[in-house]
Amino acid sequence: MIEFKVIKKSKRSNARLGLLKTSYGLVETPCLVPVATQAVLKTLSSEEAKETKSQILICNTYHLHLRPGEEIVKKAGGLHKFMNWEKPLMTDSGGFQVFSLGFGRDFGTGKILKEKSKSKFYEIKKGQQPKLLKITEDGVYFRSYLDGKEMFLTPKDSIKIQEKLGADIIFNFDECTSPLSNYEYTKKSLGKTHRWAKICLKSKKSNQALFGIIQGGKFKDLKTESAKFMASLPFDGFGIGGEFGDDKSKMSQMLRWVMQELPDEKPRHLLGIGHIDDITKIIKEGVDTFDCIAPTHYARRGTAFIHAPERSSVRDFVSSGKINLGQRVFLKDLNPLDKNCSCRVCQNYTRAYISHLFHAGELTALKLLTFHNLYFFNDFIEKIRGKIKQGKF
Ligand SMILES: [Zn+2]
Repeated sequence: MIEFKVIKKSKRSNARLGLLKTSYGLVETPCLVPVATQAVLKTLSSEEAKETKSQILICNTYHLHLRPGEEIVKKAGGLHKFMNWEKPLMTDSGGFQVFSLGFGRDFGTGKILKEKSKSKFYEIKKGQQPKLLKITEDGVYFRSYLDGKEMFLTPKDSIKIQEKLGADIIFNFDECTSPLSNYEYTKKSLGKTHRWAKICLKSKKSNQALFGIIQGGKFKDLKTESAKFMASLPFDGFGIGGEFGDDKSKMSQMLRWVMQELPDEKPRHLLGIGHIDDITKIIKEGVDTFDCIAPTHYARRGTAFIHAPERSSVRDFVSSGKINLGQRVFLKDLNPLDKNCSCRVCQNYTRAYISHLFHAGELTALKLLTFHNLYFFNDFIEKIRGKIKQGKF
């Protein structure tokens, strides 16, 4: 069970300050939900994850079902115990994998369409199915990326698995459509997602909070229809899924189509969006929580997020608030990753040291970068919460 309360609504935007209460503690919203796909924030222990000001994590149902399997997680006492994380948790439904292992993989595209994919060649043809999976009326046939074994996942299965995993918040099983899907495909898929939503609600026996995912691609009428439909069902909150069209400039508009249909008193989670430059926008549209791999993913590629480009001898290597420690210039830089960051990495280590570890292939470099990036994001959002509180956002 969860309880959600909107504490303050901004007068300047649709931003809102909220408090999400779960049996594993409180979450102050708006907030980032770092992605712990395999029940871990890659490179960090759960104790370290806690120190990054992370309040709630999201794990992946599909991946955990394949490995280690929900039975062992259940025997361990559920995901919280299994991973030694005593704070709130979410699991997604596996619906995103229908996209990422399907058309997303076949066409090499993400939730936002890249320039190169805007040609005719990249169009989903009528009746076309992705290569690695098959979507039917009842569910999705996946081929495991681990051993090639075929498995069939239905909305009911997804809920059953998520119940065994035992997160505080779970999601309904849906089809996340690709930015390449045309109107006809998206409309048909939406019908299925809506039918599956009812099955998910009916299948759930636990007292976990179930969020309904809104789809509808980039089409205003479909997104609105989906938001209305989900809002009419007894979900505990909502997930805003799917793609955001051809570029991010339309994201705010698309969020508005959905938000105006949703009841104020239930929490709204934006799935898979949350780069630093998106965060301000999405919070201003009334998003309460959002998950994004950016802080952890970039860290493992040597990138640290920092405050706005600085004036220094290394300014050429600093682009829009990011530095890459793989650049040799940082081997001689005795500054912290970010002078304005109060995380314990920035208090104790220099760019030169972390860059040295990175060049030497030492895993600790990735741990230090992951720690800093997560803290940086969480701190950035904490400051936004402060501004909403003061009526300045
Ligand atoms: Zn830091």
